[in-house]
Amino acid sequence: MSEPKTKGEELQEALCYQRKNLTETMTKEELEQAFDFCEGYKDFLNAAKTEREVVSRAVELLEAEGFVPFDPETTYAPGDRVYWNNRGKALLIATIGKKSLAQGAHINAAHIDSPRLDLKPNPLYEQGQLALMKTHYYGGIKKYQWATVPMSLHGVIVKKNGEMVQVRIGDEPGDPVFCVTDLLIHLAGDQMQRTLAKGIQGEELNLLCGSISLEDSKVPERVKLNILNLLHEKYGIIEEDFLSAELEAVPAYDMRDLGFDRSMIGGYGQDDRVCAYPALMAALDCKDPETTLITVLADKEEIGSEGNTGLNSDMLRYFAADLAKPYGIDGRRVLMNSQCLSSDVNGAFDPTFADAFEKNNTCYLNYGVCLTKYTGSRGKGGSNDASAEFIGKIRKILDENKVGWQTGELGKVDQGGGGTVAMMIANLGVDVVDLGVPVLSMHSPFEVTAKVDVYMAYKAFSAFANQK
Ligand code: MN
Ligand code: MN
Repeated sequence: MSEPKTKGEELQEALCYQRKNLTETMTKEELEQAFDFCEGYKDFLNAAKTEREVVSRAVELLEAEGFVPFDPETTYAPGDRVYWNNRGKALLIATIGKKSLAQGAHINAAHIDSPRLDLKPNPLYEQGQLALMKTHYYGGIKKYQWATVPMSLHGVIVKKNGEMVQVRIGDEPGDPVFCVTDLLIHLAGDQMQRTLAKGIQGEELNLLCGSISLEDSKVPERVKLNILNLLHEKYGIIEEDFLSAELEAVPAYDMRDLGFDRSMIGGYGQDDRVCAYPALMAALDCKDPETTLITVLADKEEIGSEGNTGLNSDMLRYFAADLAKPYGIDGRRVLMNSQCLSSDVNGAFDPTFADAFEKNNTCYLNYGVCLTKYTGSRGKGGSNDASAEFIGKIRKILDENKVGWQTGELGKVDQGGGGTVAMMIANLGVDVVDLGVPVLSMHSPFEVTAKVDVYMAYKAFSAFANQK
């Protein structure tokens, strides 16, 4: 028999905020469900390493579940499922609810672009009888992390005649890979004096891509010419075609279980596909919702959500307006009455760099999905500071649906900061709060998440989608 609780123990239980490590509180069956869910997650990320590939794969899954391309002239009925493919790089997905759109929608927004090395418009050159490709990094990266990492190349090339060529090389077994080289330690005396920020500099992010010369002593740069010849044979392109291409170099390895206990996942591009995949799964599962569910998979978040596929554009505003118009409802009424999860990752506590975090207000691996009231930097600058009322609503939904969740800021005050799409959607009049998965080594070529947190993101998004 256990001893009766002391007064202090009773008070502690009743009054103190207790965070729970989910691996200690979830049942064996729940843990198995979480691990199973992550098998699908890993497969999805292996197949979809760029925003374009996420859109293609997502459209396949959506069409298999009865979603059809959105037609702004159609008046949809409750339960109808549509998607709008915005230029192959962003996706807006909706399942029509039973309630009028005038009462608002439930919006879940995640982004599908990730930091990477983009090829420059005129990338190929030869130096020291090696062929290399110039890159311009995309998003915030610690550049030194991207040298000596095997890289694959993904994207499209639009030829002079308008024909588009798909490129995906380096991720299939037997494919060659590419890499940014780094100076050997033996000769790095000068380099080692540089600050970490300049350990590898922007113009040193050059991808090695060939070393054999074309057999013809009459032309210069024969290694480069040999590569162009190979590219012409394989893709039918000439050098000028690079000018109208989007080629993205990303780490050339699959997602892996991490740890002796396989409790974590390591790999590239988890910010923010670790939220985009659960959001997509929740959208596929959501049938006949009370309130219309809109799921946004956005591009360009990592460079400030600019451009016509990013959420700083009017794509969500137009989509809401087009959905509502056939019913004679104004788009702004939809948005002003909508609720949104800005589903993006947060930086998990890293014991090796504990000083960067404030431990009472930081998220931890295995403690569930992280509800983030505000992001930003230097006094909440550039942040959507969600209201207590809206956080209260979301908190209730999470608790009622037994979703493991926690709260956290991105690091300690004035340590740095970052933003999400939350403020752009809030600017449309929508109630928005950030909710997402804690990540270690964010924006590196090998980001780490915990499986139970990924699963809790899915549970959270499902609960949000299916609320009455
Ligand atoms: Mn993100
Ligand atoms: Mn990011």
